[in-house]
Amino acid sequence: MSTIPKVLTIAGSDSGGGAGIQADIKTLTSLNVYGSSVLTSLTSQNTLGVDAIHDVPTEFVKKQLEAVLSDIGTDAIKTGMLSSGPIIHTIVDTLKKYPHEKLVVDPVMISTSGSKLLVDDALQTFIKELLPITLVLTPNVPEAEVLLGSSQGTIHTLDDMHEAAKKLGAMGPKYILLKGGHLPQEIKGEKKVVDVLYDSKTGDVHDIVNDYCDTKDTHGTGCTLSAAIAGELAMGHDVLSACTRATTYVQDAIHSSLASIGKGAGPVNHF
Ligand code: PLP
Repeated sequence: MSTIPKVLTIAGSDSGGGAGIQADIKTLTSLNVYGSSVLTSLTSQNTLGVDAIHDVPTEFVKKQLEAVLSDIGTDAIKTGMLSSGPIIHTIVDTLKKYPHEKLVVDPVMISTSGSKLLVDDALQTFIKELLPITLVLTPNVPEAEVLLGSSQGTIHTLDDMHEAAKKLGAMGPKYILLKGGHLPQEIKGEKKVVDVLYDSKTGDVHDIVNDYCDTKDTHGTGCTLSAAIAGELAMGHDVLSACTRATTYVQDAIHSSLASIGKGAGPVNHF
């Protein structure tokens, strides 16, 4: 009997199909990984933005988790939009029954179009309960600033990114992948994206460098990256290799993104 690597995504639904659970399942399918899903929240959304948000009741989040983990199981888990403190608490509490070492956490806070996908008073629950059980945390620069309680714009050089990754590592996650897409770097005359991977145990830092792609069609990039990391971990790759392979996947997905889908920020391409 052949075994297929499995990933559980715990995230929100994007009706437009570009981000959230839909992006996660597309990513996992194209990596030949089986995806299961626990929905935290429904968004009525398209490429122009988020129109409305409807959270799933916490008891039903718990029921979905129990249904998947008691039968199908998983080799890695990723979280995306978690929406509220009670939802985060329910997830952490339920996962205690099914302890898991490979948890990738994308700290989804605000959509590119400006809608809040995590309410303000959920931040402390996120920090206190979720970060300590996280294997890889994948913030972008603005999310890192919120988590560190610093003002927006504080992180603006690669050195600042290294320093911020170290501070985030002290908050519990075993690895930090601080994404540099908001802060392109000039390297040998070329515009590059540098994602910083920090190992909290050893203090090692790896800069993962990719070409910068100047496009507005990046809807779903963060969801896609964290799903790809979870997929690569489920296949048995170590964290550095999983993050490197996942950034390459996202790079390809952005370079061929789908400007023809919708009138706004087109989704990244999984085809
Ligand atoms: N909608 C949902 C349900 C998401 O989970 C996310 C991101 O994680 C977004 C929207 C944001 O997508 P973007 O900011 O890439 O447009």
